Amino acid sequence: MVNLLDFDVDGLTAWFAQQGEKPFRARQVAHWLHRFGVDDFTQMTDVAKSLRAKLADVAEIRGPQAMRDSVAADGTRKWLLGVDGTAGSSNAVETVFIPEANRGTLCVSTQVGCALECAFCSTGKQGFNRNLTTAEIIGQLWQANRVLGAVKQPGVGDSGERVISNVVLMGMGEPLANFDNVVAALRLMLDDHAYGLSRRRVTVSTAGLVPAMDRLREAAPVALAVSLHAPTDALRDELVPINRKYPLRELLTACRRYLASAPRDFITFEYILLAGVNDRPADARALLALTRDVPCKFNLIPFNPFPGSDFRRPAAEAVRRFQEILMQADVVATVRKTRGDDIDAACGQLAGQVEDRSRRQVAIQHVVSGPVEVLA
Ligand code: SAH
Repeated sequence: MVNLLDFDVDGLTAWFAQQGEKPFRARQVAHWLHRFGVDDFTQMTDVAKSLRAKLADVAEIRGPQAMRDSVAADGTRKWLLGVDGTAGSSNAVETVFIPEANRGTLCVSTQVGCALECAFCSTGKQGFNRNLTTAEIIGQLWQANRVLGAVKQPGVGDSGERVISNVVLMGMGEPLANFDNVVAALRLMLDDHAYGLSRRRVTVSTAGLVPAMDRLREAAPVALAVSLHAPTDALRDELVPINRKYPLRELLTACRRYLASAPRDFITFEYILLAGVNDRPADARALLALTRDVPCKFNLIPFNPFPGSDFRRPAAEAVRRFQEILMQADVVATVRKTRGDDIDAACGQLAGQVEDRSRRQVAIQHVVSGPVEVLA
């Protein structure tokens, strides 16, 4: 059985052609799937009955199943989604909806676990199981729209208002390590026949997979956030081990290349603040020097603790001082508000359930040494 949520609109059109069906039929079905959020062919009332019956025979519409649904005191909502249909399996990922006064942001996962082993991230601590499929990635938006009552109604014009106005690929996993499925999902997010989000409102966050950043620029140039986290290679090697493969100079050059076709004229640098590790005034000044040639904004993320983590969040005063040094150099720096931490929905707290297949304990001990105390 093919799952129709696995196709972007071009893929759906090609699959319809194989079935001997016209492209406009594929677009009709795309509207039902993604605009109206239906999971049942009988609801596709403007599609010929015979075609509906044929589709029901050979295809299905299957999004991830919600195993838990939690709402935080601040309205942040988190779903634990089971992503393995087989009995006895326990893989699950998390999706977070963050409502704000003027926008609603959905934070989407792209992998079951993560293989990058960033020292401060709870997903990284869990190991890696597998990539999510396109259906499982877009299924998070599809399902959230349905649950939040945000699907459109057939025949009703688009008011332009969206409950989910922004999507960030900042949940579990490294999006650019699951390139093809992520790009297909991004194309659906941007496609007017599906979700119709503007490229500026869809953000991919990466730990810095340089070749994939170049490919993203060609395939689906959405807004880019880069997890910088350290002003020197020595420290970044420890905090974000992928830096050993793609060091800062290469990463920043790739950022400049990306900006040539980016929907925004700046890169967002995410910078986690870890007390005593990367939060000193000297670090802020080094960061300014490092990024001098890249149009950018900083998003400072005070560390969110999770069980078993030894890093500490800096005092509010240290955060403010760090921010001020950047701002005084005319660089925009915001401090990310902690949202949903009472349900473990804040950045770096998403853990889901991962059956680790990478057996990396040895590797982690090998990678983390020096100034990082977390696994000492
Ligand atoms: N793999 C991608 C996206 C996932 S994480 C990336 O690295 O960008 C989204 C953001 O949360 C990243 O900037 C990540 O470094 C940050 N993060 C991870 N763990 C965190 C923690 N414990 N506290 C605060 N932010 C964290």
